[in-house]
Amino acid sequence: MHIASVGVSKFCFLFSLVFCGLLLLLIPALQPSARHVDLPQPRPRVRPAQAGKASTYISHRTGVPAASSHVGDTDWATGLNRSSEGQGGSIKTEITRNDNHNSKRGTDSKISPEKGALHGGKGGGRSGSRSRDLLELKDIFIAVKTTRKYHKSRLELLIQTWVSQAKEQTYIFSDGEDKELRMRTGANIINTNCSAAHTRQALCCKMSVEYDKFIESQKKWFCHVDDDNYVILPSLLRLLSSYHHSQDVYLGRPSLDHPIEAAERVKSDGSVSVKFWFATGGAGFCISRGLALKMSPWASLGNFISTAEKIRLPDDCTIGYIIEALLEVTLTHTHLFHSHLENLQKLPTDTVLEQVTLSYGGFENRRNVVSIVRGFSLAEDPTRFKTVHCLLYPDTDWCPKLKPRHKN
Ligand code: UDP
Ligand code: MN
Repeated sequence: MHIASVGVSKFCFLFSLVFCGLLLLLIPALQPSARHVDLPQPRPRVRPAQAGKASTYISHRTGVPAASSHVGDTDWATGLNRSSEGQGGSIKTEITRNDNHNSKRGTDSKISPEKGALHGGKGGGRSGSRSRDLLELKDIFIAVKTTRKYHKSRLELLIQTWVSQAKEQTYIFSDGEDKELRMRTGANIINTNCSAAHTRQALCCKMSVEYDKFIESQKKWFCHVDDDNYVILPSLLRLLSSYHHSQDVYLGRPSLDHPIEAAERVKSDGSVSVKFWFATGGAGFCISRGLALKMSPWASLGNFISTAEKIRLPDDCTIGYIIEALLEVTLTHTHLFHSHLENLQKLPTDTVLEQVTLSYGGFENRRNVVSIVRGFSLAEDPTRFKTVHCLLYPDTDWCPKLKPRHKN
């Protein structure tokens, strides 16, 4: 009897151990499967603007071109674009926002991360064309800076080529009347009444008028080019579509591999040193409307000229000074803009049509033009702009009718 009862209790003990073990094993399996579905899904990485800005400023100090540290930023820039839908607002709300930025430094802390600076990286965000800012060519204000003496030798070529494809939104800022050219071509030629001299003051005077006309235009983007630039419009549209015009976007190509250092005149009795990047005007640059409105206290209605006087630097440097030094918004470096300061022959032929701007220079000594040969000889098309234009718009009536090239 005794032995039997010991056996039973042993059996009960072992049975309860096995039962508990089974229960423990079964608990995870008995959980409702919905819990797994509800687990948070990974989100696209959105980097706060302030963090991006800090890293870029470090690279400024070390003198490393910021472009090299921006690779791979394209996607998050596009993420910002998507989340910033509907920020455009009316001119009234934009001006209110602008008023918040009169106090210069520290204003970024008032801006939500979505409104901070964007860093497009090498490709300027081209691959991120998933933005919902459905941009059209008519949304872009293109300002061309010229002077009376270049109307024939430079401007006519632009009007014949790319300007003809963007007549409504291209504004040509000159320093003299040319009714004949206006009547003959139908181009928007604005006489700024600025001096025709190639001085800092004269160039800043023109930029000041360009800025005011852009603000008046209500367009989404301001792009400035010189009269020796070809603008590849489909590429420009593609690039700007990667961003949102209500974001702070300043896109262009620096001519230096380090930020410029200027003496900023604070009061009449002294100056402080200020360092900033700027996009060279000779390659062209673009500014979003959101950012342009914030520039207003230093750029509108003649203020641009007094701002330029503070640092005694040309128009394109003054733009960089207002944006980078005063508004603390970072220049997005892009390799898609080109001036004749670089060796244009080095640009791979098969990438020429993907660029945003091209230029030409140096006919006398060493020709500096893009290496693209099709239809026109160098004598017929010394700048290569006609060749580029006919590759982009082969149906143009003056383009040579070329047989299509056979593959293989
Ligand atoms: N320019 C001007 N006034 C002048 C000389 C030049 O407005 O007296 C303009 C010119 O039309 C061009 C820009 O300034 O759009 C740059 O001029 P350029 O290409 O001759 O010089 P660089 O590119 O060498 O600075
Ligand atoms: Mn030039």
